[in-house]
Amino acid sequence: MSEQDISNTPSVLSDESGILVIGLGLIGGSLLAALRDAGYAGRRYGVDLNPHEVTLGRRMGLIDDGGSDLAAFLPHVSLVVLAVPVMAIAPVMAQLSQLRRHGQVMTDVGSTKSAIRDQIRSALGRVPSWLVLGHPIAGAEKSGVEAANPTLYQHHRVILTPETDTDPQALQRVESLWYTCGAHIECLTVERHDEVLARTSHLPHLLAFSLVDTLARQDDRLDIFRYAAGGFRDFTRIAGSDPVMWRDIYLANRDAVLEALSEFEAGVSELRTAVAGGDGDAMLGIFSRASHARHYFDRLLSQKSYQVMETRNVVYRASAGGQVRGNIRVPGDKSMSHRSIMLGALAEGVTTVEGFLEGEDSLATLQAFREMGVAIEGPQAGRVVIHGVGLHGLKQPKGPLYLGNSGTSMRLFAGLMAGQNFDVTLTGDASLNRRPMGRVADPLRLMGAVIDTGEGGRPPLSVRGGQKLAGIDYDLPMASAQVKSCLLLAGMYAEGDTRVREPAPTRDHTERMLTAFGYPVNRTEDVAHIQGGGGLKGGFVDVPADISSAAFFLVAASITPGANLTLQHVGINPTRIGVINILREMGADIELLNEREVSGEPVADLRVRHAELHGIDIPVDQVPLAIDEFPVLFIAAANARGTTRLRDALELRVKESDRIKAMADGLEVLGVINTVVEDGIDIVGGRYQGGEVESLGDHRIAMAFAVAALRAEGDITIRDCANVATSFPNFPALAGEVGMQIEVVSEGA
Ligand code: NAP
Repeated sequence: MSEQDISNTPSVLSDESGILVIGLGLIGGSLLAALRDAGYAGRRYGVDLNPHEVTLGRRMGLIDDGGSDLAAFLPHVSLVVLAVPVMAIAPVMAQLSQLRRHGQVMTDVGSTKSAIRDQIRSALGRVPSWLVLGHPIAGAEKSGVEAANPTLYQHHRVILTPETDTDPQALQRVESLWYTCGAHIECLTVERHDEVLARTSHLPHLLAFSLVDTLARQDDRLDIFRYAAGGFRDFTRIAGSDPVMWRDIYLANRDAVLEALSEFEAGVSELRTAVAGGDGDAMLGIFSRASHARHYFDRLLSQKSYQVMETRNVVYRASAGGQVRGNIRVPGDKSMSHRSIMLGALAEGVTTVEGFLEGEDSLATLQAFREMGVAIEGPQAGRVVIHGVGLHGLKQPKGPLYLGNSGTSMRLFAGLMAGQNFDVTLTGDASLNRRPMGRVADPLRLMGAVIDTGEGGRPPLSVRGGQKLAGIDYDLPMASAQVKSCLLLAGMYAEGDTRVREPAPTRDHTERMLTAFGYPVNRTEDVAHIQGGGGLKGGFVDVPADISSAAFFLVAASITPGANLTLQHVGINPTRIGVINILREMGADIELLNEREVSGEPVADLRVRHAELHGIDIPVDQVPLAIDEFPVLFIAAANARGTTRLRDALELRVKESDRIKAMADGLEVLGVINTVVEDGIDIVGGRYQGGEVESLGDHRIAMAFAVAALRAEGDITIRDCANVATSFPNFPALAGEVGMQIEVVSEGA
C-alpha cells in the first residue's frame, strides 16, 4: 500500500467548473457537505432517482441544483462522483460514457471494486483513462442525504484503485477532491482492495448480521436484548446497517468474502476444539494474542515505537539544582526481562516472572512470542506467566515479527529463529532498522543458517527455517554480549558444541539464565560453550532492578551535595558493575548492602552519598562492563576535578545513536570542554551552564542530561525523550521522588 503525499496537489476548491454527485445518500451528501464547508467555488449538482432526496439536498444547502436527469446537469461540470449503490455503478457509468464531454473526470465510491471494474470492462471494453475507481473508508449505520455529515471523511482513508493507464491528471484531481475533504489517500490494486475490505469490513458485518439474527430468533429474545452487554450491543450496532447495501456488497465481493469466511471458520473451529477439550493454554494463547493485536499492529504499520507514536515530541525540562535523597527501587533489568520471556517460552512447563520491566522493548519480545503461539498472561504489576511450548514448539507467525526499538531482541531472536523449522522476518522501528546486524548474521551463517539482511547488513532480517545448524568455534571480533548470546541460543539448536571466545568479558545473563532453566553453559577461561540438543525447564524468575537504570541515580547522588540515597534490590552481576567500579575509582561513595543471590543472579541494595569526584583514565577492562552507562558516566566526568579519558569504546558509536558524538554535542552546549577521538572522548570537569540539548531519541542520553541539571547553572531542556519509556517507564516520576525536578512536555502530539 502506498500512502500518497499530495500536499502539493492543487486544491479542487478553486475549481469553478462544477461537480456532479450522482446518488444523494449518506456518502454523496457528506461529500457535498464537506466541499460546501471547505469553500468549494464551483456549482454543486446532484442527481438522484428519488426526488425527495433532491429536494432535501437543496434545502440542506448541499446542492445548487439537481434532479433525476443526468443529461441536464452533466454538461455543466468537470468532475462527476458516482455515489449510488454498488450494483448501480456500472449501468450508470455506461450511460455517462455516452454523454461524457472531453476533459471530464469521473470517480465512484463503491464499497467493492473488482465486480464494478469487470462490469465496466464488459460494458465499455476497458476502464476508461478518465475514470478513477475509489472507496472512502468512512461511513455510518445510516442512509439517505439527511444523514450527510461534513466531517465524515476527516482523517479517514480513501482508497483509490487506479489502472496502469489511468490518466495521471485524472488521478490527481480525484486525490485533490478527497484531500479537500480532509481524507488520507492511499492507492491499492482492485484485487488487494477487495481482499483487505473482505477481511476488515465485509466479514465483521456478515458475522454481526448472522449473530444478531440467530440470537434474535430465539425464544428468549426479549431477555437477550434486555441484558445485552457491551459486546452484543456492538454487534447489534453494526447489524443495524442498510440491508440492501450489504446484500449488494456480498453479491459483488463474493469470492474474497468467502475466502475470509473460510479463514474465520478455521479459527473458530480451533477455538471450539480448545473450549471442548478444556484446553486453557490454547484459549489463553488465542485470546492474549488477540487482545494485544491492535496495539502491536499499529506499531508494526507505523514502524515507530509505541511511545513515539502516542506522544511524538516529548521534551524534558530539567530544573537546575535539586536534591537526591530517599529509598527507591528502579525498574527490572531489561536484559533479564527479555531473556526470561525467551527462555520461558521455549521451556517445558510454566514459568512465572516477577519484576518484569514493562518497557516497550521487553513488551515487543513478549508480543513476538505471542505471535509465535505462546500463551502469556500479563504483564500485570511486573508479573508474567508464560506457558512454555518447548524448544521446538513455536509456530510460524502470520507476518513479520516487530521488535520495536530493541537491538537485544533483534540479535537474540536472530539466533533463536535460525534454529526453527519455519521462515520468519524480523523488523523494528526506524532507529532499529538502521543498526548493523551483520555481526550476528555472519557467524550464524557459519553455523549453517540462511539469513538475508537489508542494505548494508541492516534489518529487516529474513531467516530461512528448516536449516541444519552445526556448532562453531567463534572468536568474537569485538566484545558483545548480544552476539555471544545470539550464538549460544542458536547453539541449543546446533549439532555439537558451540564455542564463543570473547576478547573481554561481557554480560553473562544468558549463560546464567540458561543454567537456571536447566540448560548448562560451560565456561573455560574466555570461552563460553554450549552443547546442542538439550532442553529448558520452566520455573520462577525474580528479575532484579536494572543496574543500568540505577546508574542514573548513582551518578545523581554522587554529584549532588548532601545526597543520601538507597537503591533497592539491584542486580550486581560482575559483568554489569563496571559503572560501580568506575565511579568508585573516581571517588564515589557507594556501599553494597544485604548482598544475596536471586534466580542465579547476585543482588544488593546500593547506598550512595555525595562525594568529590576526580577525573581518571577509565580502565579499558571496565569499558565493556559499563557500555550502556557511559552517557551518565560522562556527566560524572563533567562534575569531576580534572580530565576523564575514555578509550577503546568503538561499540558506543553503533548503539541507539552514536553515543560519543551525541553526548559530546550536548556537553558542548552546556560549555563542558571535551575532545572526541575515534574510540573515545576526553572530558574536562568543571562548572557548566544550562541549555537545550538533543537526545536524538536515545533514552540513555536523555536521562543523562536530566541528571546533569542537578549541577547546571541553568535549566536543561532535552528534546526527543519519548524513548525513555523503552527502558525506564517511570523515570521522571521516580526522579521527582528523590528531589529532582523534571517537567515532561509533549509537543505536537
Ligand atoms: P444511500 O444513503 O442509500 O444513498 C444512495 C442513493 O443513491 C439513494 O438515494 C438512491 O436512491 C440513489 N440511487 C440508487 N440508484 C441510483 C441511480 N441509478 N441513479 C441515481 N441515484 C441512484 O447509500 P450510501 O450509504 O450513500 O452508499 C452509496 C455508495 O457508497 C454505495 O456504493 C456504497 O457501497 C458506498 N459506500 C457506503 C458506505 C457506508 O457506510 N454507507 C461507506 C463507503 C462507501 P433510492 O433511495 O431511490 O434507491
